[in-house]
This record gives sequence, C-alpha cells and structure tokens, in this order.
Amino acid sequence: MRAWVVGEPGPIDAGPVELVDKPMPAPAPDELLVRVRACGVCRTDLHVAEGDLPVHRPSVTPGHEVVGEVVGTGSLVVGFSLGDRVGIAWLHRTDGTCRYCRGGAENLCPHSTYTGWDVDGGYAEFATVVADYAYRLPDALDDVAAAPLLCAGIIGYRALKRTSLLDGPAPADHPKRLGLYGFGGSAHLCAQLAIALGIEVHVLTRGEQSRRLALDLGAASVGDARDAPPVALDAAITFAPVGDLVPIAMRALDRGGVLSIAGIHLSDIPPMDYEHELFYEKEIRSVTANTRADGREFLELAVRHGIRATTHRYRLCEADRALRDLKAGRFDGAAVLVPD
Ligand SMILES: [Zn+2]
Ligand SMILES: [Zn+2]
Repeated sequence: MRAWVVGEPGPIDAGPVELVDKPMPAPAPDELLVRVRACGVCRTDLHVAEGDLPVHRPSVTPGHEVVGEVVGTGSLVVGFSLGDRVGIAWLHRTDGTCRYCRGGAENLCPHSTYTGWDVDGGYAEFATVVADYAYRLPDALDDVAAAPLLCAGIIGYRALKRTSLLDGPAPADHPKRLGLYGFGGSAHLCAQLAIALGIEVHVLTRGEQSRRLALDLGAASVGDARDAPPVALDAAITFAPVGDLVPIAMRALDRGGVLSIAGIHLSDIPPMDYEHELFYEKEIRSVTANTRADGREFLELAVRHGIRATTHRYRLCEADRALRDLKAGRFDGAAVLVPD
C-alpha cells in the first residue's frame, strides 16, 4: 500500500515526510483492518514530523483522525463486521489496569500509546485499530466531515470540559463568557459547541479569514490576541502552541476564571505577574488527550447540534503540502486527506 512515513524529523519545508510503498498492515487478534476513506490533518502530525514530539517509532505513519471501512477483523473481535464504518482517533490503547484507567481517567494512563506516534496512523491506504478503541460513526456525518471531529473536535470538547463552563447553568443575569485564543481546526468546532450550549464566545486570533469564519459561526466578538477582549472572561482556551499567550489569556480572565491549554506541545510560558495574572483564584489547567467517553459524548453532541467542520480536501499524495499549508496558516478550518 501507499503510506507516508516520517523519515528524519525536521522543519516541514525540509521534507521530513516521504510517500512510500510498504506492506499492508495485518490486524492483531483484537484489531480491525480498515480501508482509509478520509484522514484529517492535525497540528500534532506536524509536531511529529518536525520533531517537537520525540520519535516514538521510527518511520511512523502519521494521522489520527481516520474514517474508514472495516475490511478485516482479528480472531478475537466481536461486534464489528466487514463494511462497518469506524473512526480511529489519537488514543490507541491503554493498559486498562492502572489507577487512572480504573478511575475513569484513562487519558492519564502511563502506559497509553497513540495513533500516528507509537503506531502507524491514517496517512495511508490502510490502517489498523484496536476494536475497543474504534468509534462507531453516526450516519449523519459523511467521511470528510467526520474526520476532523475525531481529534480536533474531541480535544476541543475536552478543553471546554476542563474550563468547568459545562458544569452548571449560567446565572440569569450573567452569560458564561469564553475566550478562544487561536482559531484553527479544534477551536472552530469548540466554538460551535459552546455557542450551541448558550455560551458567549470571544475569539482572539490573527488572520482575517479566521476572524470572518468566527463571526459566521456566531462569535460575539473577534479581535487580536494581544488586545483585551471587550468583556472579562469566565474561561479561556489557548489552542495556539504559544506559551506567550498564557499570561495574556490569564489577564483577560475575570476573578475565579479558568484557562485550559488545549495543545499537546507549548513553547515556554514567560514569567507571570502574580497579582494580575493568577491572584483572585484564577487557574491554569492542561488538557491531556481524552477518554473514549469524551469521544463518544462529543460525537453525539456534534450530531445533535449540527456541528460542522469547515474542511479542505487534499489527495493522499498531497499530505506534505497539507502539512506545509497548515503550518503557514493557509486555510481556515481543517484539512482532510482523501484517497488518490
Ligand atoms: Zn492505565
Ligand atoms: Zn490531533
């Protein structure tokens, strides 16, 4: 089959990803073999290709927003049949036995492995997935529309949960106010869900195209990250992998506000001013992957509220160009690879 691999990680313009012919994967007894019909392009793929995330598997095939059709099943698989449509996401496998797994926090499992980092992902014609970690996809979502939901969407949802804004209703005289710093694939899905749930969303980002998309989706305001939003925020989420944004977002929070950091990688956070950026019980929370329950909840919410990814199609053979365009910010929404 044809598949992309990360050779020597480095700047994306130096060509760290290569398209190669390699043997089709064989499913383990508890795995499904999947023919890939769409694979989203996530910023984490860029971090793997550029070496921001250390190499876990040499020559790994990136891609963890995979929509495909089951074309083979391992001997122990029950509940999936040939022809079923499934989603493959970032969380590949956990041990299922540690205290985090047993306590409902499998995203923190010290033995977790990840698709497109520890094992081969979906920038390929075929991929495998552990059956227990595959998502069944609602018919309402077509292949290309579903792909970005599988990481960008689920992580945006996890980040929104981590702000605590979903924990209870807003007081009648004070809408919940959320700031989103950066407005790429994950943020534009998170914004739609927050707005559908009655949260007032303020988007702080550069780029005219992203700002237009934010307003089209119902944002209450758009502005530059360096400027204060028009209102004090109850919560904020940073999506851009830029540590400099952290004190800026903390300053924009109201008393008791929470910042949730959605990225897997962040440049260093500069020193903070305690009085203006942390005092009054403001909190900083990181977001580490997601549980399968998060994924199932989000897919259900996405269908119920009609959450739609803005997508740009690239053929599988153009994955390197998609990654370069992502880095350069040449599209709004999300890029999705489709078979050649
Ligand atoms: Zn575990
Ligand atoms: Zn991702």
